[in-house]
Amino acid sequence: MERVINFSAGPSVLPVSVLEQASKELVNFGNSGMSVMEMSHRSAVYQSIIDETEADARKLLDIPDNYKVLFLQGGASMQFAMVPMNLMVEKKKIDIIDTGAWTTKAIKEAKLFGEVNVLASSKDKTYSYIPDYKNLTFNDDVDYFHMVSNNTIYGTEYKDLPKVNVPIVCDMSSNIMSKPINVSDYGVIFAGAQKNLGPAGVTLVIIREDLVGNAPASVPTMLNYKTHVDKGSMFNTPPTYGIYVAGLVFKWLLGLGGLKAIDQINEEKSKVLYDYLDNSDLFRGNVEKKDRSRMNITFVTGDEEIDKKFIAQAASAGFVNLKGHRSVGGMRASIYNAMPLESVKKLVEFMKNFEMANK
Ligand SMILES: *Cc1c(COP(=O)(O)O)cnc(C)c1O
Repeated sequence: MERVINFSAGPSVLPVSVLEQASKELVNFGNSGMSVMEMSHRSAVYQSIIDETEADARKLLDIPDNYKVLFLQGGASMQFAMVPMNLMVEKKKIDIIDTGAWTTKAIKEAKLFGEVNVLASSKDKTYSYIPDYKNLTFNDDVDYFHMVSNNTIYGTEYKDLPKVNVPIVCDMSSNIMSKPINVSDYGVIFAGAQKNLGPAGVTLVIIREDLVGNAPASVPTMLNYKTHVDKGSMFNTPPTYGIYVAGLVFKWLLGLGGLKAIDQINEEKSKVLYDYLDNSDLFRGNVEKKDRSRMNITFVTGDEEIDKKFIAQAASAGFVNLKGHRSVGGMRASIYNAMPLESVKKLVEFMKNFEMANK
């Protein structure tokens, strides 16, 4: 069977060249005589893999020296608790803007450790927009401001950053490395790897030095950032194979020309689909134009039966995982970094034909 065009929201498509490289090295990595999966994480050869992966992440995101890079487990979801455990310690208060399921979960966890000011929410319209943060009053007497840069389920994305006087903690799970960012604008960035970085099981955390080491003594060892900073993500066995594959993805990105290059590709790719949605008589996007995500594109026909028919016919034609999240319905095309432009063009061709047949 041929490879399908996979619009899964996560775990999601990886570059074919990365999969091929991994398969070439699967049984015997370099001169090691063994698979990366079989290696001791304490071996020199594995140390060079994790060091190179970190160095490439630093190169891609231009991470300043006063930021630590960690490869952890537990997913972005564990960061919802780990961040407040480590950072919500002085004022015991945070600000947050509620933009969907992933902030809702973060709010629930943070409430275990203190007071959570929900400054704004877009829940009133099924999270189909980003609340106007330019006119919000942010608090100065909070430990940090929490946000989700791209809302994977609803298809909204921040186009710039709110101006706040406290550290910004950003869940970048679904748009990290999709464009250049200024890491120094943030206190903590975290991302589950399975959308834009590699296989599930690795969580990338980028944390400003001064935010490490302030956790109360009651915080368990494994949940303290300092543990992992002190041991270079090797306090215990890290997700060795996932880190290796993320390293291959980073090399692939560097080969394309880094984040400036992928930014342009992502702009072009999302425009192909949005332009069609804006001109279609059958399909329409369900997010406010100014807040549209370039990674997760949500759309509907307005008729649930036709949506179902479209999803089924698309799947038979090799366009899989286009069903929207159960809380939104309709369709969602996740077109992360590794989704080729050609594949999005093919989807639009298919949609045009479906529209003609279903007018
Ligand atoms: C997928 C996702 C998560 C959850 O990630 P896990 O690694 O499954 O815990 C959190 N936030 C965002 C924005 C996501 O897209």
